[in-house]
Amino acid sequence: MADAQYDPDNIFAKILRGEIPCHRVYEDADTLAFMDVMPQGDGHTLVIPKAPSRGLLDADPAALSALIVSVQKVARAVKAAFQAEGLTLFQFNEPAGGQTVFHLHVHIIPRREGVPLKRHEGGMADNAVLAEHAARIRAALEAEP
Ligand code: AMP
Repeated sequence: MADAQYDPDNIFAKILRGEIPCHRVYEDADTLAFMDVMPQGDGHTLVIPKAPSRGLLDADPAALSALIVSVQKVARAVKAAFQAEGLTLFQFNEPAGGQTVFHLHVHIIPRREGVPLKRHEGGMADNAVLAEHAARIRAALEAEP
């Protein structure tokens, strides 16, 4: 079976084009980070490359390099902002791998001992809460050395 193609009308492509809003936490020339609207825990953040790819396997290595650097930067800020004891990162590929939005993205979820993750795509978070969480992470990014 032929590999599925990138759909430029996927929801994250629309966010990148500014056609739909997001709670932005970080942006540079190659990447964008914003709050997941159905968080599996407080502070659940997504980091995406601006270059189009469905997932890990069809991504340009240069885009991947920029992505992982941003993931580390944002992960540090998420950990600080939520006083997390640890972090869980997910990156799903294709429906069989659990992917539901077909533009490469990395999930960053702050973790504390004994607090389980909520269900993937379990429910929409309150907009005001997401805005406050995004502001917290932006502040932590500004405080980064
Ligand atoms: P997945 O493709 O399974 O790795 O996950 C896609 C993630 O995107 C899910 O965790 C959704 O909650 C999240 N999501 C879907 N639509 C939006 C949106 N408009 N803004 C932010 N996050 C979204």
